[in-house]
This record gives sequence, structure tokens and C-alpha cells, in this order.
Amino acid sequence: MDFEPSQRCSEFKERLSAFMDEHIYPAEALYHQQIEESGDPHHQPAIMEELKIRAREAGLWNMFLPDPDDGAELSNADYAPLAEILGRSHIASEACNCSAPDTGNMEVLHQFGTDEQKSRWLRPLLDGEIRSAFGMTEPDVASSDATNIQLSIERDGEEYVLNGRKWWTSNALHPHCRIMIVMGKTHTDGPIHKQQSQILVPLDTPGVRIVRDLMVFGYNDQEGHAEVDFSDVRVPASNLIAGEGDGFMIAQARLGPGRIHHCMRAIGAAERALEAMCKRAVSRVTFGQPIAMRGNVQDWIAESRIEIEMARLLTLKAAWLMDTVGNRHARTEIAAIKVAAPNVALKVLDRAIQVHGGGGVSQDFNLAIAYAHLRTLRLADGPDEVHKLSIARRELAPHIPREG
Ligand SMILES: Cc1cc2nc3c(=O)[nH]c(=O)nc-3n(C[C@H](O)[C@H](O)[C@H](O)COP(=O)(O)OP(=O)(O)OC[C@H]3O[C@@H](n4cnc5c(N)ncnc54)[C@H](O)[C@@H]3O)c2cc1C
Repeated sequence: MDFEPSQRCSEFKERLSAFMDEHIYPAEALYHQQIEESGDPHHQPAIMEELKIRAREAGLWNMFLPDPDDGAELSNADYAPLAEILGRSHIASEACNCSAPDTGNMEVLHQFGTDEQKSRWLRPLLDGEIRSAFGMTEPDVASSDATNIQLSIERDGEEYVLNGRKWWTSNALHPHCRIMIVMGKTHTDGPIHKQQSQILVPLDTPGVRIVRDLMVFGYNDQEGHAEVDFSDVRVPASNLIAGEGDGFMIAQARLGPGRIHHCMRAIGAAERALEAMCKRAVSRVTFGQPIAMRGNVQDWIAESRIEIEMARLLTLKAAWLMDTVGNRHARTEIAAIKVAAPNVALKVLDRAIQVHGGGGVSQDFNLAIAYAHLRTLRLADGPDEVHKLSIARRELAPHIPREG
């Protein structure tokens, strides 16, 4: 593995870093101010639409998609340092049309969508005109085991009828959200991983009801995490993605890149927190010395640097494997980094909060909100324990005695 970023990656990195300095960081405060002034936590601030125009003009758009026509033709290893830069600010990914769950939905439509599905939904998503949601998790069943999901998708002539309930459907409250990819069961018998299907459901379909917004540690995220009820929701049969029974396979395909993108962004958030920790530590004085002179604080700073580097290297290895041998053969590394990166970022943020004293848990330094967001990554896209289970199974497999 070559640690030198490709020329293409270096060129994007330079442009993206300049864009962050010139447009993204200075817009962060205004973004929050505009939401607050609107009185609606899901309001789309005008500054975000301005940033999207600028990002597109700057060619910093859809960088996650390796497709040469619609994306930036970057490999996973090329995209990793860019996603890390995006992760330094909570508004950068949307500004560059690189935010979850749209990225995963675009990848699914790109890979499995029909021409009609692509022109109706993928095109406006790629153009940043609409946003989308993905509904798999359900309140009534332990959804970290996706075979548990219950929502029914029944064929009725030229339509499918959906009944059930989802929650944690991220983005569903974003004012631009128009489409959901919903995973449910088309069959209740047969092989356990062939009972699920995925289907496109426009948000304004009769029978779709947003029940409520779920808060994250008391925060209403701008994109919203909705509980959604589906009651006799009818959509054309042509809205099915791939075939009946392909839902699990599509879920696996979407989660590989999505998981690693989260990890790359988490490392960016950790890197920014470490910078904030150092800046604060050198500027605050107690008992006659800057806090930075204390041994325990230097220990936190050094450990943070070591842990970030380790997480970054494992992320790069996972990305490189995805590029060279494919997502399937990178499963262990993808699972490993999905556990490691959020935990490292949380440790660094916790130290940065401590060094900031009371300010650290306030709204003034973005540390508290970043901590709340990153803590959810130990659950979203599969809890730590489920990823560890899959790693342990592969480690144990060669050691399990064969029968007979
Ligand atoms: C902010 C946020 C955004 C999200 N966005 C989306 C979204 O857009 N779309 C969507 O469909 N879902 C989304 N989710 C849901 C998320 O993917 C699920 O919460 C997650 O998969 C876990 O499912 P569950 O909540 O049903 O937990 P459960 O399945 O009930 O599991 C509870 C806990 O049990 C433990 N556990 C489970 N299995 C094992 C095991 N084998 N061994 C040991 N321990 C185990 C784990 O600690 C786990 O956290 C989001 C969640 C959050 C917090």
C-alpha cells in the first residue's frame, strides 16, 4: 500500500481545504443563526443553498461517487482524506452533496436502479435538488439484526402495499426530502436473507405519516430522525429496487462504503477537536501555568495523536482493500474501523471537552454537539457489538473443529 496520496487526491485536497477556509468555517455560525431565527429546527438555511452553489462551481460536488459521468472519479482511498476534511465541519458534507443517507441512496440507485428510477430520483439527488431517507430500523424489533424487520410489502396487481412502522429514518424531516428507500418483507417464508426487498416510496404518498422527530441527547438534528407510520401505502410495482428478495443484498452493498465514509468523517471531527484542545490548553492559565504544561493534559494530547493516526491508517487500509480486492474481502477491516473510528473520536472529544472546562459542554465550541453526533455512530449503521461479532466469527472460523 502506498501512503502517498494520488495526484488527483492531492489536487482535490488542496481545493477542498481552501474551500473550507474560505466558505465553510466562516458560515458555521450563520447556519445555526438562520435555523434559530426561523423557529423551526428543520429549516433549510439560505446559507446552505449558497454554499451548495459555490461547491458545485468549485467542482467539489458528489466527490463520493467514483462514476466518471456523475461523480468525481475518485477511488475510496482517494476519497478518504477528502471525507476527513468534510468531517471537520457538520455543514460541509451537505454543501458538497456528500452527506448520508443521500450518498448511500444514490449509490443504490446508481447500482441497481432502472432507467426510470434513475431519471426520476437519482438525477435530482445528484443535482442536490432533493434529499432522501432510508428506512430500515423499526421500533418494535431489534433491528441490528435486519432479518427481524416486519414492515410488509405486499404485491397487489400493478402496485405494492406497505404496512408497518419505522423509526430513526434520518433526513425524513429535511424540507427537501422527497423520497425514501424502505426495506420490508415481501415474503415471510423461504431463506431468511431472501425475504426482504427495498422499494422507493415518495414522502407524499397517501398513508405515509411522520409521527414525530426523535431527538439525539436533546438535540433536534436539522435533517431530523423520524418515526414514520406506513398505513396501506400504495406505490407502483416499478418502484421496487432490483427484484423481490434482493433487499438484504442491497443493504449489504450500501453499507460498505457508507460505513467507511462515516469513519473518515469521524477522524476529521477528532482532528479538529485535537486542534481545539491544543489551542485552548496553551491559552488558559491556572496556578501560574498554561494548562498545556500539565503532564496529564500532554498525555491526553499525545494519546489523541496516536489514536487518530492508528484509526486513520486502518481507515486507509480498509479503503485500499475496497479498491483493490472489493468490499466483500474488506469486510473485517470495514467492521473494525466502524468500531474503532467513532470510539477514538469520542475519546478525543471527551478530552477536548475536559480541557475546555464548562465551555466544553456549552454551545460555544461545537464540542458538545459533535460528541452527541459521534456517540450515535456507535449505533447507526450497526452497533459496535454486531461488528465485533462478525470479526470474531471470522477469526474463530478456522479454529472450529470440523464434524466427522
Ligand atoms: C442518529 C441515528 C441515526 C440513524 N439513522 C438511521 C437511518 O437513517 N435509517 C435506519 O434504518 N436506521 C437508522 N438508525 C438506526 C440504527 O441503525 C439502529 O439503532 C441500529 O442498527 C441498532 O438497532 P436497534 O436500535 O433496533 O437496537 P437493537 O437491535 O435493539 O440492539 C440494542 C443493543 O443490543 C446490543 N446487541 C445487539 N446485537 C448484539 C449481539 N449480537 N451481541 C452483543 N450485543 C448485541 C447492542 O449493544 C445494541 O446497541 C439511526 C440511529 C441513530 C441513533
